[in-house]
Amino acid sequence: MKILVINCGSSSIKYKLFDLDNNQNNIIAKGLIERIGEPKALARDHSQGIKILISDILNKGGVKDLNEISVIGHRVVHGGETFLKPQLINAEVIRKIRKYAQLAPLHNPVNLAGIIGCRRFFSRIPQVAIFDTAFHQSIPEEAYMYALPKRYYKKYKLRKYGFHGTSHQFIARQASKLLGKPLNKLKLITCHLGNGCSITAIDKGKSIDTSMGFTPLEGLMMGTRCGDIDVAAVFYIMKNEGLSLLEMDNVLNRKSGLLGISGISNDFRVIRKFRKSGNLSANLAWKMFVYRIKKYIGAYYFILGGVDAVCFTGGIGENSPGIVNAIKQVLVKISGKETKVLVIPTDEELMIAKLTYKVVKKKLK
Ligand code: AMP
Repeated sequence: MKILVINCGSSSIKYKLFDLDNNQNNIIAKGLIERIGEPKALARDHSQGIKILISDILNKGGVKDLNEISVIGHRVVHGGETFLKPQLINAEVIRKIRKYAQLAPLHNPVNLAGIIGCRRFFSRIPQVAIFDTAFHQSIPEEAYMYALPKRYYKKYKLRKYGFHGTSHQFIARQASKLLGKPLNKLKLITCHLGNGCSITAIDKGKSIDTSMGFTPLEGLMMGTRCGDIDVAAVFYIMKNEGLSLLEMDNVLNRKSGLLGISGISNDFRVIRKFRKSGNLSANLAWKMFVYRIKKYIGAYYFILGGVDAVCFTGGIGENSPGIVNAIKQVLVKISGKETKVLVIPTDEELMIAKLTYKVVKKKLK
């Protein structure tokens, strides 16, 4: 069965075309349409981007006829409290994705633009939405509520949602395979460390807490995001520097994290290089980054009541033995035994393809 997975970003469309027959996970075509909306770009908007994607698939010989594609799976960042599972897309699902654009203004509108573009060009092919937030909808209320006046939750649905759900779910499944134990017998901590970073506590295959919150700003220190911070510090900066809301948002999301502390780069490889050559700011950025990871793993270890394995993934997680070893050492100290530490490459697109297949399996057979 040929499944097209589409991931629309603000100025790009990534796609992978899978053939999932016979338990094979073959990628038969993949591509990236970039600089959407920029002055001299080929694609003026996402709809035109989908048109380019179609010619790219046909040029690369992924399929000879578009009708060979059985189903399309779309990554959608925010599904609010409504979507606990992947959804076959219809007018009602589209309406709700649009509604949740209030909670993810940078992501849901472009995800939706991809969906609408595809409905235009692949009108007879079913489409499925896979939500980043869905995996974390199992988090209990004591973990997802903020200790603010309750009316903000009632009025605005202001609460922790968590992100990177598809990646955490994929890593948990892979860990279960590697450990040779069913997911419902495992306690796992999964660390997705990439451009964005988040850690999730997974009990019996279900997310019970995660470090990102109402937005992907909360939790760990990231490339350019500050992660956890005393909110009063934000008021203090705004007052003393005379910053507007937008300017402050820019500081917290784009000027902080590894970049803000090192003053050099948001790229972990560059931080590591400068640290090795004795740069003190890069060293502090590295130490803070690792300290936060330890802090969250410690908290989730306690919440879970022990853990079978701590898993690392993402561009940083998959390529940083220094971090993995630092965590291993602490785990040996607290658990008194060798807790498994696994490094597992993530594949969000494959997970989206598999979840998409599950939704339409019965219908297409
Ligand atoms: P991702 O969002 O998963 O693509 O991860 C991107 C981040 O991973 C980049 O910003 C880099 O900081 C980091 N990264 C990529 N390759 C490596 C590597 N070989 N070693 C350490 N960090 C890496």
